[in-house]
Amino acid sequence: MTLIHIENASKYYTMGEETIKALDDVSLDIDHGEFVAIMGPSGSGKSTLMNIIGCLDIVDKGNYDLDGQAINVLKDSGLAEIRNRKIGFVFQSFNLLPRLSAYENVELPLIYRGMSKKERELLVIHALESVDLLDRRKHFPSELSGGQQQRVAIARVLAGDPAIILADEPTGALDSKTGLEILNILKRLNAQGRTIILITHDLLIAQQAKRIVRFRDGRLYKDF
Ligand code: ADP
Ligand code: ADP
Repeated sequence: MTLIHIENASKYYTMGEETIKALDDVSLDIDHGEFVAIMGPSGSGKSTLMNIIGCLDIVDKGNYDLDGQAINVLKDSGLAEIRNRKIGFVFQSFNLLPRLSAYENVELPLIYRGMSKKERELLVIHALESVDLLDRRKHFPSELSGGQQQRVAIARVLAGDPAIILADEPTGALDSKTGLEILNILKRLNAQGRTIILITHDLLIAQQAKRIVRFRDGRLYKDF
């Protein structure tokens, strides 16, 4: 079943006199439960595509439907709502709050959703268990290794139960062994039915995905 339907999408940036085609007539369908790696050189449009899939931005031309809902027609508040409900972001730099414990970092988005303490506790513990970090729940980010911090960031995403996990260079700040450990966690989550889209420069990492999509100069040129 189609989760992401992108059709003839273009996105332009104007810099003075010059117009940059960050995305140039891109069509891409991704089904529920897929694990897709997006590869391509720097400046090829990967982040632009991620921002569109993640409802941080909209296309200038073409269409994007997420789970059957047309995204182009939404205003900022509508985009934010879909984003909060359906998208989980994982970044290269982990983006944990340094003064909160691992537990509190995972819990924070659930507080914003207005959940009770009891509801939150179940979800936080389950999410930390899913990344094998329950025993570190009281640690602060500075007391955790890079790999462990990324696992907390993944737990934070899981607690929100998103339809899609968008991971932008999640292994970029990690050594290759730890990077593969993070990939194994993402693969396990995918085996449990999560849809995962991963941006990476690293072919070894991309090869762990079931499908690799390649970009060059804003165009999708290979999909296998
Ligand atoms: P990648 O993620 O593959 O490195 P990007 O999607 O970031 O590529 O960028 C695609 C193209 O769009 C590049 O030429 C980049 O310089 C340009 N670009 C991206 N974001 C902006 C922006 N906010 N303003 C102007 N140009 C941008
Ligand atoms: P991982 O394989 O998950 O990256 P490591 O083998 O690097 O974990 O770390 C082993 C243990 O050492 C971790 O459980 C963590 O508590 C501790 N540790 C690692 N890096 C740091 C650090 N920079 N500061 C404090 N403790 C650390």
